[in-house]
Amino acid sequence: MLALDELRFNNRFTASLPGEDAGDTVSRQVVGACYSRISPAPVSRPKLVAHSSEVGELLGLTSEEIQDAEFVDVFSGNRLLNGMDSHATCYGGHQFGNWAGQLGDGRAIALGEVIDVNGDHQMLQLKGAGPTPYSRSADGLAVLRSSIREFLCSEAMHHLRVPTTRALCLLTTGDQVVRDVLYDGNPAPEPGAIVCRVAPSFIRFGNFEIFASRGDLTTLKKLADFVLRTEFPHIEVGTPASYVELLKEVGERTADMVAEWLRVGFVHGVMNTDNMSILGLTIDYGPYGWLDNYDPNWTPNTTDFQHRRYRYGNQPSIAQWNLVQLANALYPLVEEVEPLQDAIANYTSRFELVWSRMLAAKLGFLNLDDDKDKSLAEEALAVLQTVETDMTVFWRELAKVNRTATVDKLERCQPLMNAVYQPGSMTSDQRASFVEFADNWSARHRELGSDDNELAVSMNATNPKYVLRNYMAQLAIEKAEAGDTSLVNELLDLLRYPYEEQPERDHFYTLRPDWARTKIGCSQLSCSS
Ligand code: AMP
Ligand code: MG
Repeated sequence: MLALDELRFNNRFTASLPGEDAGDTVSRQVVGACYSRISPAPVSRPKLVAHSSEVGELLGLTSEEIQDAEFVDVFSGNRLLNGMDSHATCYGGHQFGNWAGQLGDGRAIALGEVIDVNGDHQMLQLKGAGPTPYSRSADGLAVLRSSIREFLCSEAMHHLRVPTTRALCLLTTGDQVVRDVLYDGNPAPEPGAIVCRVAPSFIRFGNFEIFASRGDLTTLKKLADFVLRTEFPHIEVGTPASYVELLKEVGERTADMVAEWLRVGFVHGVMNTDNMSILGLTIDYGPYGWLDNYDPNWTPNTTDFQHRRYRYGNQPSIAQWNLVQLANALYPLVEEVEPLQDAIANYTSRFELVWSRMLAAKLGFLNLDDDKDKSLAEEALAVLQTVETDMTVFWRELAKVNRTATVDKLERCQPLMNAVYQPGSMTSDQRASFVEFADNWSARHRELGSDDNELAVSMNATNPKYVLRNYMAQLAIEKAEAGDTSLVNELLDLLRYPYEEQPERDHFYTLRPDWARTKIGCSQLSCSS
């Protein structure tokens, strides 16, 4: 087929860095190599479930071409194209705060770097394509449930303007995969699936940590220089200052990414250092979740229920902790602590600046420089926590609050009440805090002379109307497992325009339904995927 044959590969990663020809998939420690060459495992009856037409376009592939049998053959891992150089990368990582040693791509197989229509490199990677030398005791496969979650969420995040890896397509393999979802001794077969992920690079903090931990400074330096040359070409290579600058820029991108997560209510769920992208992209969609009611202590990850290390509100400080691990890994190339510490401090100030601007934008302000605006921001976050209040609906409804001076206070506050889960059981004090906030916020905008239309446009571009609520993904999964994949595609369409009014899809603009409050897959997710 012409379009597939026209894909041009330029495999910088495997061409520039040391690797091994794996030969087999026996689990082992891989030393002195950034990757192991390995082929995807064949699957029996691959079938395309969904694809992103935008990612297809980026690669020069039409939707028609993506639906062709040859495409399905290649992107299920059954056949490699000329120019592909398939491999799994070697990385380590800190998991839940502890050094875990070698991890690596246990079930992700990169196919190669394709040149996109803009002339940029995009690594194609199949997640769930079979075992690699890094699979340890696991099978290298992925199930439909977690693959739908990854496919939909990475595209939803992109359309929300959150930096993320992308997803080209989602396929079922026709093979069954056994998983114990709750880790309670009840393994059951599930449909196997593969997602083709796309990003300029999938290099993680852990790719650096593994070589530093082994004292392999030669490979560490090669990797760092490669990342500088390919991804940060404006930084001069070859001096200790190069690696400090690298840490600084990674920190800035990470700060921007985490601030975006907080803006839209995203909780990553497993912010281990092996799940932190060197490009500041959201990577590895596992037991992630979205805040329905605003609760900074919430985490979707059942493995983390006790300590809640990766809870929503802890993400900025965990990102910093992870950057410190990256700094430690880069230290042998710098041999000076202070500049690395400065780069970490730069992360903190960058995050604070970006987050404060973002919070300002959510309230319709330019910044929070004025103390009045700062205290309104604090008031908003406090009001959100007075009673169970939906984060997405609260922020989206705020723009609808009537700002005319003469309007009745209770009436003014009405839109915000749409965000409250149980308005009937609110105390009068709780009601008063909503009323006061709506009143103070309106008064401030009158004082600033804000234009009603401009305010609505800017706030609606910051406060999304539609996000991939946990229950929505779960509905799509349940239908797909019963053989109907239509909701996957409907949600993909919905989430393509998260800031637009979509009246025909207004049923997705509601509070989380009651049945989803404590349901597995909605409020509780395990790492089993
Ligand atoms: P995660 O928690 O998904 O980021 O995965 C942590 C590590 O476990 C990574 O090295 C993964 O490649 C590996 N891993 C997770 N699931 C599987 C699986 N089913 N088969 C092989 N390796 C896996
Ligand atoms: Mg991972």
